[in-house]
Amino acid sequence: MIALLAGGTGAARFLLGLARVVDPRRLTVIGNTGDDLDCWGLHVSPDLDTVTYALAGLLDPARGWGVREDTFHCLGAMARLGHETWFRLGDRDLATHLHRTRLLREGRSLGEATETLRRALGVPCPILPMSNDPVRTRIRTPEGWLAFQEFFVRERAKVEVLEVRYEGAARARPGPGVLEALRDAEAVIVCPSNPVTSVGPILAIPGVVEALRATLAPTLAVTPIVGGAPVSGPAGRLMAALGLPVSAVGVAAYYRDWLDLLVVDERDADLVPAVEALGVRTAVADTLMTDGARAAALARNALAALGVPG
Ligand code: GDP
Repeated sequence: MIALLAGGTGAARFLLGLARVVDPRRLTVIGNTGDDLDCWGLHVSPDLDTVTYALAGLLDPARGWGVREDTFHCLGAMARLGHETWFRLGDRDLATHLHRTRLLREGRSLGEATETLRRALGVPCPILPMSNDPVRTRIRTPEGWLAFQEFFVRERAKVEVLEVRYEGAARARPGPGVLEALRDAEAVIVCPSNPVTSVGPILAIPGVVEALRATLAPTLAVTPIVGGAPVSGPAGRLMAALGLPVSAVGVAAYYRDWLDLLVVDERDADLVPAVEALGVRTAVADTLMTDGARAAALARNALAALGVPG
């Protein structure tokens, strides 16, 4: 079994590549819930949903979130009723949030709701929320604290970042199966996800870093930073706010405590000595997943670096 730490869009691309080169039933995905939000009274888990839709073959490939060919009739109707619509929910996507919210109101856990969704949508592997307890990533800007989605979607990540906080993390327990997956895996892979707001919340759950340190499995991360900038999204701004270099070196510095191997992009091969100086071994590969074949090649390279048969 291969355990994966996953955010949203970057993780989804990588998982689609990985599912082409290993039996997806061998995977266990540990997903970020620090991005979760309440929208119109519904519990939305954007990263869990992106990964679920990807592995179900339902993800909209152009947007990188939501259900392919979805419509937005409800969103338009909500706008006419005066509701905020900066967080866009498609009509088919809404069924996911209605289902999840209903189960949560009936007293089921987020993990149970995620499990029923992935099974109903035909995803062949477990997707484990990092925790069933609420953890919310908050970003301090010159105008004050913002919820992650307010920063990322409403403000389009264009405001200055002064501080990042994972509210609730210190009291949160790891989701059922999370520590066991890290312990029992033959390999652990950190997807090319935003280190600060996708992987950081998972690492902030008490017990997770200890499990990553203790596991006998080799641990590998794929850099989300290529050529001095993230491939997409605000990872650069967030890493800089934490005082990290915006490069594979910064990624290695953030994970070095427990990381064995970092896949550095071939365009950044000159950074290999600086990464290795941090005590992290490297593999160099093309990490730009512009299509499924490239994502599969990257996954094959990651497995080869880990010594795990595909
Ligand atoms: P989010 O919740 O949508 O931000 O989800 P992620 O954290 O999984 O995805 C965003 C991260 O993935 C960003 O830091 C991107 O730089 C990275 N990313 C997206 N596409 C690619 C790609 O093709 N290659 C690499 N190496 N990183 C990517």
